Amino acid sequence: MITILSGGTGTPKLIQGIKEVYEPSKMNIIVNTVENDYFSGVYVAADIDTVLYTLADIINDETWYGIKDDTFFTNEFLKELNCPELLRIGDKDRSIKIQKTLLMEKHSLSEVVDIQRRRMNIESKVIPMSDEHSEINVYTDCGKLSFHDFLIKKQSKPEVLDIKYTKVNPSPEVIEIIEKSDMVIIGPSNPITSILPITSMNGVEKALKNSYCVAISPIIGGSAVSGPAGKFMKAFSHEVSSLSVASMYKGFLDKFIIDEMDENLKDKIEKLIKDVTITKTKMKNIHDKKMLAKIVLGEVI
Ligand code: GDP
Repeated sequence: MITILSGGTGTPKLIQGIKEVYEPSKMNIIVNTVENDYFSGVYVAADIDTVLYTLADIINDETWYGIKDDTFFTNEFLKELNCPELLRIGDKDRSIKIQKTLLMEKHSLSEVVDIQRRRMNIESKVIPMSDEHSEINVYTDCGKLSFHDFLIKKQSKPEVLDIKYTKVNPSPEVIEIIEKSDMVIIGPSNPITSILPITSMNGVEKALKNSYCVAISPIIGGSAVSGPAGKFMKAFSHEVSSLSVASMYKGFLDKFIIDEMDENLKDKIEKLIKDVTITKTKMKNIHDKKMLAKIVLGEVI
């Protein structure tokens, strides 16, 4: 059994590869929830939905957001009605979010996600990192912004000074699943807003230290493949490099996989993490994803 820690873009790409070479029923995915919030009257758990749609083979993997070939009638009509639609939510995608919102009146987020993944015939377990609500804010040269205002309204343009999120407790299965796994995979996700929120919850780091833990660097050749990870790392005075990611994860990592473009950093990284593997980590197509998945999984397949 393996467990994957995920955000909503880099790691889902890898999950597409892993599910081709590993038994989906033996896979658990613990997903970041710090960015969850209500928009246009519905509960949006963007990273969780991206992981669900990836596993159900319905993800729009051009944008890594929403369902492929979705329609936008509700979004367009709401805009005609002058309802501010900060997020462009498709019709099918909105149905999943409405169902989540309704189910959450009686169930915890973990229970809701479990109901939804079963209805989508997903064999892998999808576990929200926490059932508690957290708030994430980005402090910028334009003042304090909610995470989505920074990302969407301001298009990640302002200078980032700090990022703060409410500390939450792990959902019921998180610690046990990590401890029972033969391997924990920290996918190539944003360290600051996707991975550290998971690993910094009570008990998670200790559980990771007791497991075999492998991470893939989301930084290639001094910059993020996509999104504001580089900007966020700089805000915490980290140089944007695989070496910085290694220094963030070194307390619980057994193996670190870096890109061939970062070969020059191997010696320095090996001083922090003994086992360093160099390979192509940029995933452009399913072949790249499967190749990387096989290297990550190594002896467990
Ligand atoms: P978010 O929740 O949408 O921010 O997405 P994630 O946190 O899951 O992923 C964002 C990170 O994925 C960025 O730091 C990217 O550099 C990284 N990423 C995206 N695609 C790739 C890829 O093909 N290879 C690697 N190594 N990293 C990637």
